[in-house]
Order: sequence, then C-alpha cells, then structure tokens
Amino acid sequence: MKKISILGSTGSIGTQTLEVVRAYQKDLKVTALAAGSNIKLLEQQILEFKPNVVCVYDEEKAKELKDKLSYLKIPILSGMDGLIACATEREAEIVVGAVVGMIGIRPTIEAIKAKKDIALANKETLVTAGHLIMPLAEENKVALLPVDSEHSAIFQALHGENKKEVSKILLTASGGPFRGKTKEELKNIQVEDALKHPNWAMGRKITIDSSTMINKGLEVIEAKWLFDVDFEQIEVVIQPQSIIHSMVEYKDGAVIAQLGTPDMRLPIQYALFYPSRRPVEGERLDFTKIGKIDFCKPDMETFYGLRLAYEVGKKGGSMPTVFNAANEAAVAKFLNREISYLEIPEIIEYSLSKATWKENPTLEEILSIEQETYENINRKWN
Ligand code: NDP
Ligand code: MG
Repeated sequence: MKKISILGSTGSIGTQTLEVVRAYQKDLKVTALAAGSNIKLLEQQILEFKPNVVCVYDEEKAKELKDKLSYLKIPILSGMDGLIACATEREAEIVVGAVVGMIGIRPTIEAIKAKKDIALANKETLVTAGHLIMPLAEENKVALLPVDSEHSAIFQALHGENKKEVSKILLTASGGPFRGKTKEELKNIQVEDALKHPNWAMGRKITIDSSTMINKGLEVIEAKWLFDVDFEQIEVVIQPQSIIHSMVEYKDGAVIAQLGTPDMRLPIQYALFYPSRRPVEGERLDFTKIGKIDFCKPDMETFYGLRLAYEVGKKGGSMPTVFNAANEAAVAKFLNREISYLEIPEIIEYSLSKATWKENPTLEEILSIEQETYENINRKWN
C-alpha cells in the first residue's frame, strides 16, 4: 500500500489523481489533501478518502469547513503552514505536486527534506527553483517523477539508456487552439476562445498558457532541470494530434518516442507506480484509425513567449522567476478581463526589461523577485 499526499486535490490533475486512487484502492491510500478554496469538492474528497490531515489555503474557507466537519476529528489547517504540513505528512511516501503556480515551491522543498518522493505536475516550481530543487532531491535521495505528459514521455524514452548518449530532446506541442494564426488575428481573442484547448481538458491557467505557447516555454525550462540537458539540445516540434508525447534523439540518430491517448491518468499513474505499469481503463491508440501524424515548426514570432522562455532559460539565475511570475500575473489579469490577450507576452517582456539579473537566487530571493515583478506590473497595468 503506497501512501500519498495530494497538493491541489480539487484541480484537474488532483481529481485525476484521485481517479487513479479509486481504480487502485488496494494499492494506494491518501494521507493528506490540500486545496486553495474549493471546500465543496474538498469536503466530498475528505469523506471518501479519509485523509489524516487537510489544508484549505484560504483561512476563512478552512474555518468554514472545520466547523462543518468537526465531528470527523481530522485536522483542517490553512495557509502555507497547512500546505507544508500536508506535504510532510508523516505517513506519506509520495507527494503529488498539483497546485498551480510558484506557490508550490515551499511545500515541494519541505516534502523533499522530509524524504518524500515527488510526483511533480507543478512545473512553475521547477522553472523558478530548479537550481534548488534538483540538488536537494539528489542530496535527500528522493525520486522526482514527472507528471507533465511530455516529461513523463521523455523519462520513459530515456528508460535504461545512458543520458550521455542523448543528442537532443524533441518536446512535442499541440500548438494550441490558435496554431497558424497571425498576430493580427490574435488581437481580439477573448477568455472563452483561449479556454478551448483542442486535445486536453486542464485547469484554466495552463489552458491559457497552452494557447500562448508559454506552457511549452515553461516545459523547455522544466526539461532542462529534469534531464540535465542544454537549451540547445531541446527542440520544440509541433505535433497537432497530441499522440506523440515527446521523443529523445540519441547520438546515433535513433529516436525513441512515447505515444498514447491524451489522458493525464497515464503519466500520473506511471509516476505513482514507477517502475511498474498498471492498466488504465479507456481507449487505446488505434493507428489504422489515426492514419497519419503531422509535424511542423513552432511559430516563435507570433507566439514569442516561447522565444522569451528560451532566452530567460539560457540567461538563468533570477530571469526564469521573473518570466514565470510575470506570466502568472498576466494570465490572472487576462482571466479577470483586465487586459487583452496580446498583453500577456507584452507584460512578460516589460517585466524582463525591468528586472535585474541575480545568479542562483535563494528561496527568499525568489519570493521577493516574485513580489517585485508583481509590483512593477501593477504600477503600469492598473
Ligand atoms: P487547476 O487550476 O485545475 O488546479 C489547481 C489546484 O491547486 C486546485 O486544487 C486548487 O485549489 C489548488 N490551489 C491553488 N492555489 C492553492 C494554494 N494557494 N494552496 C493550495 N492549493 C491551491 O490546475 P491543474 O490541475 O490544471 O494544474 C496543476 C499544475 O499541474 C499546474 O502547475 C499545471 O501547469 C500542471 N499541469 C497540469 C496538466 C493538466 O492536464 N491539467 C498537465 C501538465 C501539467 P482550488 O480548487 O480550491 O482553487
Ligand atoms: Mg505538458
């Protein structure tokens, strides 16, 4: 029986993780659940999975839920302390990092220090603090198992191969709902348009990130940390059907790819049961029905957020934090209908122009760079 803690249990990855737990009740036990504010869904999850500890980040909502479920005698905590308590819950062996945004940095660090393996979906944590997380995981001998489908694919394609033999990583991208559009055509994109992803049903932030290609940019930086490759060795390839989840090219030119239906339960389950594989219920790929798979180059001029991600990745230090924090702020403003669609990359570019470069920022510095980035943006876009 593997004991798991889920940070972000009410989200898209969180609920799909619980579907996996439901399918493998004899093998998986939930010991901690944490969410932001959705206490309606969290309450159902608590009643079904009976964790040892719960966190609702929002203090008011935590209190409300605590009053309602007082008869259960399960501690319901709040804030960062509560999130960390869930990440370090005594019995948990693996922590599913499925909160959205760089709020995930501290709980992930604390979970690693508490010697928990990490199934990581929360890419913003690696983008901003990869230089702290990777050595810490090694030092504490914990496994960092990717849940992001592309990174799970790369991890699977690397299986048993010597990393030194890799020549490049081919990170596939669907191109999102606006693939092939010009900047002019993107001008009047509304929130509803951007929330329609052709292949995947995901949380709101990552769906917007996929439409701007900034998600792929974050994934390029995530891949750099997870697989210890140079940015020159990471190539983004558009593969609109989302059947090839990514590929690894070796020195001799051989390419190993992982393919599958676009179903996040597969990478989630792979991370939870690694190194063994279990059946996932649902459709399988039928190649004779698929017929063909297309490829093309990404348009890094229209979707220049992807180009900026490569640039900040290469600069390193504090720049990926500025990039990520600016994107988080811009996407929140777009979802709130405060800015137009094309202002998302504009805000990122502006924030990068205001930022000062800092080598190897500490956790405290990362969090203060995040704040500074928000303040710079709010001065101009308010
Ligand atoms: P969602 O928006 O669907 O879910 C986010 C989860 O985080 C919710 O449970 C939310 O709680 C919780 N949360 C938000 N803020 C806090 C907080 N301060 N404290 C505790 N919990 C919080 O996002 P996704 O599931 O789509 O994405 C999660 C992460 O996984 C992201 O980093 C994303 O990039 C990554 N990812 C997602 C994929 C997908 O298919 N969805 C694919 C690959 C990566 P509440 O509901 O209460 O707000
Ligand atoms: Mg992905």
